[in-house]
Amino acid sequence: MANQLSDSQLEVLRALADTVVPAIPGNGDPTGFLARSGGDLGVHVGVADMFATLPAEQQASLGQVLDTLSQRGFPAGSPAERDLAVRAFLTDGGDVAAGVTALIGLTMSATYGAVDPQTGTNPAWQSFNYAGPPQVEPGGVGPLATYTPEPGAVLDADVCVVGSGAGGGVIAGKLAQAGLNVVVLEAGDNLWEQDFTGLELVAWPTMFWRGGPTLSADGNLLILTAQTLGGGPTVNWSNSLRTHAWVREEWASEYGLKDVDTAEFDRHLDAVMQRMGCCDTCSDLNGPHQRMQEAAAKMGWSFIPALHRNADPSAYSPDTAGHIGWGDRSGAKVDVRRTFLRDAVDAGARVIVRCYANRILVEDGRAAGVEGTVTDATGAAHELTVRAPRVVVAGGSLESPALLLRSGIGGPAVGRYLRMHPVPAIIALYPEPQIPWWGGPMTAMIDEFADMEDGYGFLVQCLHWAPTALSTLIARSSWAEHKQTMARLDHAAAYIGLVRDRGHGTVTIDADGNSVVHYAITDEVDVRSAHKALEVQIRANAEAGADDIIPLSAQPTRWHRGEDLDAFIAAVQSQPLAAGGINLICAHQMCSCRMGLDPATSVANPWGELHDTPGVYIGDASAMPTASGVNPMITAMALAHRTAEAIATNDRVTSSASKS
Ligand SMILES: Cc1cc2nc3c(=O)[nH]c(=O)nc-3n(C[C@H](O)[C@H](O)[C@H](O)COP(=O)(O)OP(=O)(O)OC[C@H]3O[C@@H](n4cnc5c(N)ncnc54)[C@H](O)[C@@H]3O)c2cc1C
Repeated sequence: MANQLSDSQLEVLRALADTVVPAIPGNGDPTGFLARSGGDLGVHVGVADMFATLPAEQQASLGQVLDTLSQRGFPAGSPAERDLAVRAFLTDGGDVAAGVTALIGLTMSATYGAVDPQTGTNPAWQSFNYAGPPQVEPGGVGPLATYTPEPGAVLDADVCVVGSGAGGGVIAGKLAQAGLNVVVLEAGDNLWEQDFTGLELVAWPTMFWRGGPTLSADGNLLILTAQTLGGGPTVNWSNSLRTHAWVREEWASEYGLKDVDTAEFDRHLDAVMQRMGCCDTCSDLNGPHQRMQEAAAKMGWSFIPALHRNADPSAYSPDTAGHIGWGDRSGAKVDVRRTFLRDAVDAGARVIVRCYANRILVEDGRAAGVEGTVTDATGAAHELTVRAPRVVVAGGSLESPALLLRSGIGGPAVGRYLRMHPVPAIIALYPEPQIPWWGGPMTAMIDEFADMEDGYGFLVQCLHWAPTALSTLIARSSWAEHKQTMARLDHAAAYIGLVRDRGHGTVTIDADGNSVVHYAITDEVDVRSAHKALEVQIRANAEAGADDIIPLSAQPTRWHRGEDLDAFIAAVQSQPLAAGGINLICAHQMCSCRMGLDPATSVANPWGELHDTPGVYIGDASAMPTASGVNPMITAMALAHRTAEAIATNDRVTSSASKS
């Protein structure tokens, strides 16, 4: 692809590629990856190609950073001088630091994710014996039939559901089957098995919110969330866990969701798990999970060896299961597109993709519909209006509050109680290959620490195979060390500590109405959980025989076997749980439009209907009163199942008093 970069800008890109992917001469490099610098590998050319696909505004700002680096003589420096210069740019703060960070991200993506169209592979992959995603025929049952409205159309419906993910998909399916005229608006595209390549660099920009991993506004947390038909379940990692008993009890006793602590909620959990084909027979343990099992046995920690996953045993293979985070090409994943959304379409619902809901219409204080913008296949934008007396807000916990704020409804709690399950993580390198891309990403876990204090604690699970994402997050003392670590990824186990957060962040909107996320770990229980989660991940891998343990951190920390483990744990725990320290990740957003009894601290009543606007319901994970403490898909779906029944039967209450 042609690029618009000048020669001097290209020269900076090449110098940067040579600096952050340096040549490391020596033996033991059969593929020649270490010996060749990023420039030798042509990484800068790949970066220039990616550059040309960025939004014009971003191209302009990064172009200025390239010019600044050129004017400061960056390309002319020796390798050591350039290394020092990059460090200085990064610690400088301001636009240059942000620009250099983005350029390094692009360089890492081109190095560890780009595929040579001639060979279908990548030189870095060869260094860690990764052949790329398995080439399999697309499985599944074909694309979902979607509806294309005329430009400027005004549609009538009984219910307009915003968002087709875990929550919205369930509500659309249930209400359409109940005989209601349902329209679903989905911002993402109608991608299906044939489109799922298993390649990070294809999936991030087409299936994820804001084009892939996105930092919170304060830089404290790297956020992953879906933007594609079927929402999170289309790209998520398929572990299907039931809600903790103590969380259900808390929601019943403190937030008025009384039935959630009874067999009624088990009925909702059972219904969604059954429709999603959740089973524990597609949960082979790969190397990282086997090491986890060994460590748990040695340490006496509770370990669940076969998690339920929404997978079809007749299509499942551990050879393809490690790639489901980019959409599961094999068709073994039983996601919302394949279940509840299909039920909706079969029952007559109209699903409209590439449609972003801008505003909820309110008339006489009640829901009246939704205004949205549809982007057609040519890229042209058209207005769409759906007139409906019921609106279900299910855009996920980052976008649902933004929609309410743009609409001026929901009250003072909108966006105020965002929970994120912040994740401190590590990678460990073992003497023997672990083949982390084989087998499902999350097939087992350590749950010993789920309830350390008043129902708060963490789960230890594995991270999905994602070399480009890892490359930007792992701690390094030098770029040479970083490259050598990356070249051993087949020997790596990547763990996460999933913290149930008691504290919270916020979602607000900027002047254009776009959501803005702030999140800082300040709650003392959360700090203790995060520190313990780091310790447990480190001890588990040391116990299981790892040679090296590396946190995901901006600070240069690493343990090598033989060194003092306690001192290493203390050093990692001393790093800030914030920008510049531990690189926290978040794939679970919840609670930003939560249900409860008090309109000052909750957005919706215990049955999901807004306190201040009848007819508007919260139908996604943002309705959870507090963090689920387990991976939230099944909990969000069960709550949505419950809300759908409440809407269908009008069996809702406006206070907890009338429902027991
Ligand atoms: C990488 C990853 C891995 C995960 N792994 C697991 C796992 O293994 N197990 C588990 O239980 N959970 C997992 N999760 C979490 C789980 O997927 C989410 O908790 C769940 O999908 C949340 O459901 P939701 O309905 O709130 O939002 P989503 O499922 O995210 O759906 C929201 C939908 O709304 C659309 N939308 C947003 N704004 C608008 C708008 N204004 N107009 C129209 N459409 C809009 C979005 O495009 C999206 O499709 C994972 C999540 C991610 C990102």
